[in-house]
Amino acid sequence: MKRFILTLLSLLPLVLFAKGGKDTRLVIITIDGLRWQEVFSGAEENLLTDSKLVRNTKQYQQTYWRSTPEERREALMPFTWGTVARKGILIGNRDKNSMMQLANKTNISYPGYSEMMTGMVDDAIKGNDPVNNPHRNVLETANQDPRYKGSVVMYGSWKSTRFAIHNEQAGIPACVSYEPNVARKQTPQLKLAQRMLDGMPHYWGSEHFDAFTYAFALETLLGDHPKVMWISFGDCDEWAHARKYDLYLDAARGTDAFIRDIYQALESDRFYRGKTVYLVTCDHGRGFAGEWSGHGSSTKGSEATWFMAWGKGIEPKGETSECGPYYTKQFAATIAALLGIPFTPDSGEDLTPLPH
Ligand SMILES: [Zn+2]
Repeated sequence: MKRFILTLLSLLPLVLFAKGGKDTRLVIITIDGLRWQEVFSGAEENLLTDSKLVRNTKQYQQTYWRSTPEERREALMPFTWGTVARKGILIGNRDKNSMMQLANKTNISYPGYSEMMTGMVDDAIKGNDPVNNPHRNVLETANQDPRYKGSVVMYGSWKSTRFAIHNEQAGIPACVSYEPNVARKQTPQLKLAQRMLDGMPHYWGSEHFDAFTYAFALETLLGDHPKVMWISFGDCDEWAHARKYDLYLDAARGTDAFIRDIYQALESDRFYRGKTVYLVTCDHGRGFAGEWSGHGSSTKGSEATWFMAWGKGIEPKGETSECGPYYTKQFAATIAALLGIPFTPDSGEDLTPLPH
């Protein structure tokens, strides 16, 4: 018994260390080009009833149309509005003056991911090509910290995402766009998902469907237990560019379900339960009304972004109003604060974390 008590006492510092917030696990999820309008108000009536944008307007109205924005957003993203809104914080509903936006002026993807991960804007970064980012990013810094070293992994649908964190130089294992998954433990589920992806027609040249990003990410989390993972989804942006509002909505609902599954699986796993913070954001917005499908420097409104956080230590403030403007570049500082790592962007700007 005495030895048992001594063993317990020797473990005490470890327990205190964990309680002290220094043993955080972090899951970062990005949803490419999902507008704040759909996140906070659900399907937009003029788009949902347009037969050029929606194949079966009657059926899609049954699925997504409700009389109030609160009901519509819950129909579109039931996990976000049923669970995240109760447990966490949401920023970016412009109808309630909760403001978040890009600091970069391009309003396109690579500069958006670069801004959120490097915590800065470089005006020379203005294209979407898969080229290594010259700037230091917060995930790279985490991967050099003894607590997180070798425990940072990235999965993405779109090819250029991993270049935004120049993953080979940063030493971060990553899999994007039809590449083989990077899990150490190859479970039967992972092998099946890999074979399915390998056999998929390459519908979008440099981007695979989010279902594979989800399967790879989830199986790697449960099998390898990395402490930090960035999961980058892309279906919403692709279907929007294709002007298929029905599939854009389905992708938003599907992504919400992927996030629910990941959250529920991790909270059932001892390595993650009660120790994990979940962050979700986007790389850019899209235009208003008839311009909904596009984004870019000349598309008004596509600078608008949004953010949500829940999990360990996050205050359940729910949907915010009358705040901001916050900037996407503050995302890197938020990650650094949550992981307890020092991070200064190459710009030297000292940014405050987003509210969390
Ligand atoms: Zn796009």
